[in-house]
Amino acid sequence: MSGLRPGNNVWMILVFLLVIAASSRPVAAQERIQVILQFDDTWRSQYYNALPVLEEYNFTATFMPFVIDHGRGFGGNQGSYMTWDEIIDLQQRGMEIGSQGWSHPEDMTKLSEDDIIKEVIYSKDELEKHGLVIYGWTYPNDVWNKNIMSIVKETYTYSVPQSYMYERRLVPKDADRHSLEGTAVTNELMSEFRAYLEGVDKNNTIILIYHEIENTGGKVVKPVDSFREQMKYLYENGYTGVSFRDYFGLAEKEPGMSDHEMTLRIAIALVLIIFTLYVFCMAGK
Ligand SMILES: [Zn+2]
Repeated sequence: MSGLRPGNNVWMILVFLLVIAASSRPVAAQERIQVILQFDDTWRSQYYNALPVLEEYNFTATFMPFVIDHGRGFGGNQGSYMTWDEIIDLQQRGMEIGSQGWSHPEDMTKLSEDDIIKEVIYSKDELEKHGLVIYGWTYPNDVWNKNIMSIVKETYTYSVPQSYMYERRLVPKDADRHSLEGTAVTNELMSEFRAYLEGVDKNNTIILIYHEIENTGGKVVKPVDSFREQMKYLYENGYTGVSFRDYFGLAEKEPGMSDHEMTLRIAIALVLIIFTLYVFCMAGK
């Protein structure tokens, strides 16, 4: 076998090792099946009862506040809604913030043009003034008309016009980003929750919409243990909770992350080169 000259082997093995080094990545969260998690109305219970569970499973989610009354209480219900500091903290912890308007009106179709603009456009401006990065909008009470929708489309990257209670809606991967339909998660049983996830795969997902995460009871109030059980089920069955931002890949990659990854790859490649050269030098002696 005189054809196998050491010089050829060195290059073949080097190329082989370099290909392995360049293509190796940590096991990515993207390999899990994505489920979009949306939290409406900025209930403070989401911050205290849902956020720790999301962080435990490394999930992201989109929180949709309306602008007024943060830190002042809404309708005399002092302290039921998150403060600005809490909303900003959500973003700093990797969660996404969207808008659900300025005042969460009962019926936006009954508003004047000026008030519609305040709800749709000024709410985004106000959130951004607080340093929040806003991509999405969800309609208060699922009420809209063509005029409102056209303003929303001009202002936001995506929007959620409709949510259904007790009814699962699948969202195809290539769905129109302004026709997204959510599934309101209420006080359903785990068997019903599992049925919601049927058909959720690489091509379809579901938008699970939560309101209060609290043990107070009520139609759209999710008990804390039940919420935890649902997140645990997702995690243990190969799903991952994601924000719309992460689902659509809207955020630019953090420069620090890619630099770090690049440095790591160069280091691995250098170690492999030095090791290989060493082995062949020793073998040649
Ligand atoms: Zn709402």
